[in-house]
Amino acid sequence: MKYNIAIDGPAGAGKSTIAKKLAEKLGFVYIDTGAMYRAMAYYYMNKGIDIDDKEAVIAEFDNINIELKYIDGVQHIYLNKEDVSSLIRTAEVGENASKVSAIAEVRKKLVALQQEIARSINVVMDGRDIASVVLPDADLKIYLTASVEVRAQRRYKERIEKGEDADLAAIEEEIRQRDYRDMHRDASPLVCVPEAVVVDTSYMSIDEVLEHIISLTEFTE
Ligand code: C5P
Repeated sequence: MKYNIAIDGPAGAGKSTIAKKLAEKLGFVYIDTGAMYRAMAYYYMNKGIDIDDKEAVIAEFDNINIELKYIDGVQHIYLNKEDVSSLIRTAEVGENASKVSAIAEVRKKLVALQQEIARSINVVMDGRDIASVVLPDADLKIYLTASVEVRAQRRYKERIEKGEDADLAAIEEEIRQRDYRDMHRDASPLVCVPEAVVVDTSYMSIDEVLEHIISLTEFTE
């Protein structure tokens, strides 16, 4: 039996940072499901296909191949054999990923891929619907969250550090809108399942969060 850890939560709660480090410590593979939705969105943006046109989105499925590979322990995501790992990290792709992920057929396609990966290896998987849909039998379910203000501050800092322009109030508004869309869509909205352990990272350091989650993990090799 494989040991699976599900981490869900809103944008900017620190899911990918925590999931990546946790996987490293446990010797598990980190699966970033958001990157898969981003890669899909990137495909449609490049093709000039309107993401609100559901029929057009679905019609392209056979032309889209998404793969994850690990190079020196780092996840790389390939869209039709092209490494798009850094190309998908823009705010615009994030917005479009949130839109494309509201289409039930898109979710079905990616969920099948995610479940297939988790069947064969120990994973730490992060996303919005991991505990509720993708891995309902996960051994440990974490709902990672933080206040909107703290999450906006983190994004602001990240962008400034990258040398990008950033406006704190605009980022806060972006986060509120993305939360609303992710939590209110019909297809697999972001929910906190009753058995999940809620971890509010607003006033915790990365190491504190990690230590806390590891203390909840009952994994023995
Ligand atoms: O986590 P990240 O910001 O990379 O995800 C981009 C978007 O993809 C999210 O806003 C969310 O709408 C969508 N997503 C999802 N289900 C997942 C992972 C991401 O709907 N499991």
